[in-house]
Amino acid sequence: MTATVSANVIITTACNRHCPSCCYQHLLASRPGHHREPADIVEEVRLLASVPQVCLLGGEPTLHPALHEVLAAVRQVRPSPSVVLVTNGARVCTLPRPTLSLVDRVWLTAFPGVPVEAIREYCPVPVDVHAADHEDFGGGPQPCDRLLTTVSVLDGRVYPCCVACGVADAQSAELRVGWETVIAEVPPPCAHCVFGRA
Ligand code: SF4
Ligand code: SF4
Repeated sequence: MTATVSANVIITTACNRHCPSCCYQHLLASRPGHHREPADIVEEVRLLASVPQVCLLGGEPTLHPALHEVLAAVRQVRPSPSVVLVTNGARVCTLPRPTLSLVDRVWLTAFPGVPVEAIREYCPVPVDVHAADHEDFGGGPQPCDRLLTTVSVLDGRVYPCCVACGVADAQSAELRVGWETVIAEVPPPCAHCVFGRA
């Protein structure tokens, strides 16, 4: 059985960018601007106890109006270091530092114009920077190496790869005790995924 090392938990479908190669584009378009309930997010994180790392993302997670409440509650159910905030960077320097201190790391996608050094300086936690190289999307074997090593989570359901919860017609399993066994039987939605297009 493939070990799941990370889980992407969607906390909002709101985003302040419209990237043409967004791997969550179906979700963002079908449910625009939806901020999830903090209690539902925290319950999902609690059920992911077997996964070493939890990434909180969107959409753009810094747009969630209850971000501090969400992060504080997640911190209560996850040991450190295991909580990552994934962001496009546009709003990081507008957040209170105590809010950012509730996560262990920030993963920053460095779109053009994002003030990477200012964000590094402002953040009270380490910032990992990833280039936004959309030319790299598409093609490759299906399913790709993202299958099951990272799962994605939305609405009490777990999906078999890092982006599957945002892809049209994706199948999923209920996120409940024992989900780790059940998810291995769920096929990924590669045919509709930006990473899987030939
Ligand atoms: S910033 Fe991220 S979530 Fe938002 S549209 Fe771009 S790729 Fe998608
Ligand atoms: S749905 Fe996309 S990211 Fe997931 S395994 Fe298939 S090609 Fe990879």
